[in-house]
Amino acid sequence: LHNTIQELKGNIRVFCRIRPDFSSPDGLNGNVFNLPPGTDNLVEVKSPTIGSFNGEASIKKTAFTFDRVFGPASTQEMVFEDISQLVQSSLDGYNTCIFTYGQTGSGKTHSILGDLKVPSQRGMIPRTVEKIFSSIQELSEKGWTYQIECFFLEIYNETINDLLNTTSKNNNNDLKYEIKHNLENNVTTVTNMTVVPVTNPKQVYELLALANKTRSVAKTLCNERSSRSHTVFQLKLTGFNQQSSERTQGLLNLIDLAGSERVSRSGVEGKQLKETQAINKSLSSLGDVISALANKEQHIPYRNSKLTFLLQNSIGGNSKTLMFVNISPELKDLQESTSSLRFAAKVNSC
Ligand code: ADP
Ligand code: MG
Repeated sequence: LHNTIQELKGNIRVFCRIRPDFSSPDGLNGNVFNLPPGTDNLVEVKSPTIGSFNGEASIKKTAFTFDRVFGPASTQEMVFEDISQLVQSSLDGYNTCIFTYGQTGSGKTHSILGDLKVPSQRGMIPRTVEKIFSSIQELSEKGWTYQIECFFLEIYNETINDLLNTTSKNNNNDLKYEIKHNLENNVTTVTNMTVVPVTNPKQVYELLALANKTRSVAKTLCNERSSRSHTVFQLKLTGFNQQSSERTQGLLNLIDLAGSERVSRSGVEGKQLKETQAINKSLSSLGDVISALANKEQHIPYRNSKLTFLLQNSIGGNSKTLMFVNISPELKDLQESTSSLRFAAKVNSC
């Protein structure tokens, strides 16, 4: 059993990151969360409760343990340090997935993408891209050559959109982008998806800018679209060693999930209701897939959502998965934070 746990632990990890509190001068706020000194994997939630005995307010502490907890003072560089091994393993032929999960405003996009123009604020995607290209340089001395291909897509309302396709204005045709999974070689493809071979980081940054443009066109059609859709950035890494004739193929996925906030049921109708249902469905499917993998169930329900179907070959099996739960430190967000921590704790117990 111990081995099984180790094995699973190796394949699914959960990190928590609490963003700074913008209302406090030093960005730190210990009123809601406490990170016990001397630990790096524990977060305590301090929730005020009204004592039933005498009506006085008291503080209830609930502790959550993850593989790693990053506090409000953590930098983009520190976060990347802890994922660079995972990034490296995709060059060795592993499929890897890094998610950011949390309510809107909790720091998901900051963590995964960050500010490309400010070096210290660059997030996991640009740092990953640079790491990949520098590693390839080193590996070339051992006879390796790599082909790198980039995909960038969005899942909105259970519909896939190609963020690198600039030709079609109405980039919203479900039939056009169909997910196909080949069980024999465990390769998942999306029909008609734009694939761009890249040879240096600059080319990838141009694609990120392009994707941003594609998204902003769509944004005018739907308010706050970015928080209602999942963004999936993929690098397919195909390696060949001339000396040994070894081959590897890895797929690296960096995924900015839709905001996990519960939209109140009452008063929500039409388009917004459809969005909410789609988000709830895909986020709960993701949780279900991870639970089923942890319980070693026979049937893993990948096909219950576009997100999990798309990632069928990148979650489970030999793949390595890392989930970031992003947390806002503000008191007004306590309920959402607690529900995010619960979701992540469930994943972490896998
Ligand atoms: P989300 O993508 O979860 O909706 P964002 O990443 O857009 O949240 O974060 C909300 C705001 O907080 C943005 O202005 C972002 O730049 C800022 N922010 C988030 N995390 C941090 C951090 N660790 N350090 C500095 N600013 C941050
Ligand atoms: Mg965002």
